[in-house]
Amino acid sequence: MPIFHAQCTCGALALEVDGDPVHNHVCTCTRCQRASGSALAHNVWFREENVRIVSGEYSVWYPQGETTPDVMKAFCRICGGGGFSKSGTYFPGTVVIAGGTFADPSFPAPDHVHWWDNRPHWLDLAEPIERLAGN
Ligand SMILES: [Zn+2]
Ligand SMILES: [Zn+2]
Repeated sequence: MPIFHAQCTCGALALEVDGDPVHNHVCTCTRCQRASGSALAHNVWFREENVRIVSGEYSVWYPQGETTPDVMKAFCRICGGGGFSKSGTYFPGTVVIAGGTFADPSFPAPDHVHWWDNRPHWLDLAEPIERLAGN
């Protein structure tokens, strides 16, 4: 089984994952652009039991409030980067890790892109990546 290593910008918060992604996509919706600070977000889901926190401490943000703890985003307490999130009923029992935090050129490619119609006019992607106009 492959082992992938992710870390935040300062390196304090480090994660280790074994096993292939359950779901692997990029998204150019407005929310993902704002969350990632980039033209697109590379969102990669892994089974929760395959993800380990190797080092570091994190803060947690609950976008829907603390009564919905399965929708959350965790980020490094020092630099605010890296971390992981949970997407609630979208994929229960999984953890989302931003593909860029692996900084690994051989990391598996996304299968498809969501909200392609919302992409910046200059963005293009390799042909095998399926383009979905919306969600
Ligand atoms: Zn999105
Ligand atoms: Zn950090």
